[in-house]
Amino acid sequence: MAFMSYPRILGHEFSGVVEDIGDNVTKVKTGDRVCVEPLVACGKCEPCLREEYNVCKDMKVLGVHIDGAFREKIVVKERGVHPLPENMSFEGGYLIEPFCVALEAVRRTKLSMEDTLTIFGAGTIGICILKASLAIGVRKMIIVDINKNRLSIAKRMEADDTVTSYQEIMDITNGRGTDGVIEASGAGKAVEDIFKVASYRGRVGILAFYRTSLVNIPPTEIVNVFYPQRL
Ligand SMILES: [Zn+2]
Repeated sequence: MAFMSYPRILGHEFSGVVEDIGDNVTKVKTGDRVCVEPLVACGKCEPCLREEYNVCKDMKVLGVHIDGAFREKIVVKERGVHPLPENMSFEGGYLIEPFCVALEAVRRTKLSMEDTLTIFGAGTIGICILKASLAIGVRKMIIVDINKNRLSIAKRMEADDTVTSYQEIMDITNGRGTDGVIEASGAGKAVEDIFKVASYRGRVGILAFYRTSLVNIPPTEIVNVFYPQRL
């Protein structure tokens, strides 16, 4: 189940100080500054037995399916607790969770210094993808959103171009599109557009949740390996 049930205490991105530990806990001690993975896995299903607990068949996410961290104290499993480096703030600590989501998207779309990238969605995850791409030296980053305030933040965060539609991306890239395209907006329309802006040999990643159950994906765009103007 992707969406939350109510009533619910929110909070799945958080950091804090360990106040007490269980008898068998060895990874952290009282007083440690930590961040916490919000995933609670069953430990029994096939993915869990293969240590791929992030895709547990009965996964519960703190703040989504069970109560989260918008409170003074929370009890969590040792496996998901990670000590923070001394020089990292609590703010940096709670941003580790969305940043890991972004890094995985960047890794799976095999982005490198040779690539250009379009990011659909200038929300938290979109901005984290932007920063992760900057860190690995992606050559050019275009970010799409219909919210101008979010786009101005993206510009401050060093996006090369900020646009409101896929047509603008084609103009900026002279019809080529970009090598990588990541959909992080959650808009069904964006899922249709990502295939239009992927260049030849492009890689596309989708990591948002959607309220719509169906979209119209253009299959010819997926198998088209040449630039349209070169056909
Ligand atoms: Zn499981």
